[in-house]
Amino acid sequence: MRDRLEELRRRALERIADADAGALDELHGALLGRSGELTALLRGLGGLPAEERPLVGRLANEVKSAIQEALEARRDELRRAALEADLAGAGLDPTLPGAGRPPGAAHPVLAVARELQDLFRSLGFVVWEGPEVETEEHNFDALNIPPDHPARDVQDTIWLVDEPGRPRLCLRTHTSPVQVRALRELGAPLQVVAPGRVFRQEAQDATHEHSFHQMEGLVVDRGIGVPHMLHAMSVLLEHVFGRRIETRLRPGFFPFVEPGFELDARCPFCRAGCRVCKGSCWVELMPGGLVHPHVLEAAGVDSEEYSGFAFGLGLSRIAMLKWGIDDIRWMMSGDLRFLGQFPAQAGR
Ligand SMILES: [Zn+2]
Repeated sequence: MRDRLEELRRRALERIADADAGALDELHGALLGRSGELTALLRGLGGLPAEERPLVGRLANEVKSAIQEALEARRDELRRAALEADLAGAGLDPTLPGAGRPPGAAHPVLAVARELQDLFRSLGFVVWEGPEVETEEHNFDALNIPPDHPARDVQDTIWLVDEPGRPRLCLRTHTSPVQVRALRELGAPLQVVAPGRVFRQEAQDATHEHSFHQMEGLVVDRGIGVPHMLHAMSVLLEHVFGRRIETRLRPGFFPFVEPGFELDARCPFCRAGCRVCKGSCWVELMPGGLVHPHVLEAAGVDSEEYSGFAFGLGLSRIAMLKWGIDDIRWMMSGDLRFLGQFPAQAGR
């Protein structure tokens, strides 16, 4: 019985190795089918002495597996050969290496945002995100910008089509509404940064774009004053640029802070004025100030007990200064000739 099984295996494997696709199907039936050779052999198993049955049974299973594997392997081989013949007929060589993918890199804005998020997390801040489609209330009212306030015109807001009975919606013009959202959700005391995209109806030029990126910073606690704000701003700038940046502070007006400031950086592109600094040799970098009591109250925070500072950081502008990019329109261009210039390690 064992000899017959071994003999069957030898013959079967030989025939399979030479078979074409049609012959393989026939072989499958002739060997393993209901009236196949192996099946017939196995029927004789019952006639063997009891002590031989387990050994012969195991061998029979081995033979069956070997035949099944050989059938499968031969089928794969034939399939691959047919495919290669097809490709060769079409003039393709499947053994040539592929086109490959160049390694990706983070967009300069994303690289700056990640770096700053890491920095602020290490200082105990939480990172919070708000929606890009924002309610009029969050974007303006809660930030002390009433309906008749000229700031609403200044920002040239992109409004969504009104739906009767629903709050008016706009594309957020700044990341400041996240101040309100974070304060309402997390309460005071609070240290939060909120990176994100903002939208303005701008005439585009080297420094103005309809979409750009900001990072809002907010600290609310007892006894917070201007020195805290100045310290945070200088830590941030030194970290981002890895060198001292010459800055100046001047009064600035934003309805949601009092007092308000503008932090400018010395233009890195010129000594005597250029299109980026519009001839002034200074680039607006970071507006900020002490959070207006109306904003704290609108977010449900007691302005008698708490005070805070907030700043808005232009992520696009920081990236421009950091890498010497002299036109903001590159940022949203999606142009690989531009994006390919940033090192992969700026990503992660
Ligand atoms: Zn300049």
